[in-house]
Amino acid sequence: MAELRPRIADNLARVRQRISDAAARSGRDASDVTLVAVSKYVDVDAAQALLDAGCHDLGESRPQELWRKADALADAAVRWHFIGHLQRNKVRRTLPHIALLHACDSLRLLEEVDRVAGESSAIVRALLEVNISGDASKHGFNPEEMPSVMPLLADYSRVQICGLMGMASLEGSLDDARRDFERLRLLRDSLLSVLPAGIALEELSMGMSGDFEAAIEEGATIVRVGSALFEELEA
Ligand SMILES: *Cc1c(COP(=O)(O)O)cnc(C)c1O
Repeated sequence: MAELRPRIADNLARVRQRISDAAARSGRDASDVTLVAVSKYVDVDAAQALLDAGCHDLGESRPQELWRKADALADAAVRWHFIGHLQRNKVRRTLPHIALLHACDSLRLLEEVDRVAGESSAIVRALLEVNISGDASKHGFNPEEMPSVMPLLADYSRVQICGLMGMASLEGSLDDARRDFERLRLLRDSLLSVLPAGIALEELSMGMSGDFEAAIEEGATIVRVGSALFEELEA
């Protein structure tokens, strides 16, 4: 395990370079793309290695794992991103830890987040998850229902919806993924005319280890990368 820290620093540098290259190819600035390092596969020591290497946005997809790591790293400057499906009974313990809730996937969840945030007069930043691939196993709003969801967002005063999140089909090719990402961007653009005052949808959270470059070329502002950061680590 002596190799853990240099290996992670090296993998991080490589992913950052690929992000810069993809941004440059699409005429964007690398600083417009936030890398969320998904630490769900690794333990606290590897998460600490990411922090030490300069990556302060960390993502987890399971509440208990987030709580555990957030407690262990309580003294560190981490911006935690919750990227998985959040059950309503886990909202209360999760919200205090996170900078961004990526996968708000139903109005019932939104309502609960709003209610719990209101108790502590906090404002929660969140993205709406859209099921862009149409996979039945995936959570999220259907693209078709999004225009009618937009006006309702005005009712949730404790939640600041700042964009959309999507995942490409796991079975599809890279071209399929690119089309899914393009669909999410076009959906976002089409919603701009029906947004309530004060909501902008500036963030697009899309792209993982296998497809983050395509996502950036299609307009991702946040990529969620796990396995590419932990390649060649001894378990
Ligand atoms: C695990 C996970 C990722 C990271 O996946 P990799 O392919 O390992 O980069 C991204 N987003 C979500 C929602 C995840 O659950």
